[in-house]
Amino acid sequence: MQDQFIDKNMPSLISDLQKLIRQPSISAKNLGLEECARLVVQIMRKSGIKAEILRIGKNIPPTVYGEVRSVQNPNKTILFYNHYDVQPEEPLELWDDKPFSGKRRGNKIYGRGSADDKGELITRIKAVEAFLKTTGDVPCNIKFLVEGEEEVGSIHVEDYLRRYRNKLSCNAIIWEFGYVDEKDRPIISLGMKGLLYVELSLQESIRDAHSSLAVLIENPAWRLVEALKTLRDKNGKILIKDWYKEADNFTYEELKVIASEPFDEKSFKKEYGIRRFVGNKKGAEIRKALVGAPTCNIAGFTSGYEGPGAKTVLPSTALVKIDFRLIPKMNPLKQLRRLKQHLKEKGFGDIQVKMIHGEAASRTKISDKFVKTVRQAANESFGRSILSVSSAGTGPMYSFSKILKAPCISVGSTYVFSRIHSPNEFARIDLLRKTTKCMCKIIKKFSNQLP
Ligand SMILES: [Zn+2]
Repeated sequence: MQDQFIDKNMPSLISDLQKLIRQPSISAKNLGLEECARLVVQIMRKSGIKAEILRIGKNIPPTVYGEVRSVQNPNKTILFYNHYDVQPEEPLELWDDKPFSGKRRGNKIYGRGSADDKGELITRIKAVEAFLKTTGDVPCNIKFLVEGEEEVGSIHVEDYLRRYRNKLSCNAIIWEFGYVDEKDRPIISLGMKGLLYVELSLQESIRDAHSSLAVLIENPAWRLVEALKTLRDKNGKILIKDWYKEADNFTYEELKVIASEPFDEKSFKKEYGIRRFVGNKKGAEIRKALVGAPTCNIAGFTSGYEGPGAKTVLPSTALVKIDFRLIPKMNPLKQLRRLKQHLKEKGFGDIQVKMIHGEAASRTKISDKFVKTVRQAANESFGRSILSVSSAGTGPMYSFSKILKAPCISVGSTYVFSRIHSPNEFARIDLLRKTTKCMCKIIKKFSNQLP
């Protein structure tokens, strides 16, 4: 019944998505956030969802809360997490249409936010609408949390979760996005890695000097390079004491799933123009690393003269930005203390360490009943699906599972090559349609899921 409703009402899904795209909402520039939050409320209300704006303070972007209480099954609740903010649209000259055009061409709708995350949001709103307009009820309680700072690191989402913990209480969470691969298989991802982002800086003298003085004055770039060399071996293993101490090994079940995850080595290497992987990884090692290996990555290094030609200078300062991806049970603050202790012990106690961002990893257990529910719904809607133990990326999933104490799964409509965060971002209409149906099936199956 819901499937036919969705097929018939695709024009309204498309026009509502276009409306959302045409309202710029760039969190990095604090542009259009209030307006977009109000638009989300309006679209939710039109679909029959009770919606309101939540606030936790002045100058903090609002969060939209949506809710539908179920008459037939008021004891179970599913929560959809999404975001209404988008990435900046630059570089402008690389867009074929205006970045916020919402233009449709064939099977695609273009514009910043079309896929990430307004396309995902609209499939969920329309799935709920399909139940309300065909049955007058929903199979279980539905809640929405739509935040406005995801693209700048979800700075306040944890504060919102704490403040509105009771309002947001639920038994299962669907994450804000999910990829569909090049063979149209939805990827059901059960987790995300954590992150510790730090800046290491060093000053050796009070001003830059003529480089002939390198016989007398220490060069901070050299010392920083020497310090960096102690952090990691050439195969990517992190050499900081106790770095892996709490990190879990994979369970037997996880290893089985990892072995079944597809990964095309050849096309991946071609895509990036590389000949080998770090540590010469092959086969299962590659997939295991993507899902569950901590990393230590130099994201940027600045020192001395970086302009054209030559300048013989001895810089006074050097700075490096490093991101460490973390896996479950690794606590970002504890890892930060280990890093500082390591530097001290290696004779680099004068290096300033500044934490920019810290986030713990999260992973829903494969044995959780909700995994099977989502898997079945995706298989029915797309013909097949891929289960993934964890994404290689980072998001605030841990805050959700910790505060709301519910399993969290990522599944959605975003085609892997839909150029999110880049010019000409698009959403595929066929995938929006399938995903809306998939969300209906998730809601229905979840409401029947045994405790
Ligand atoms: Zn994004």
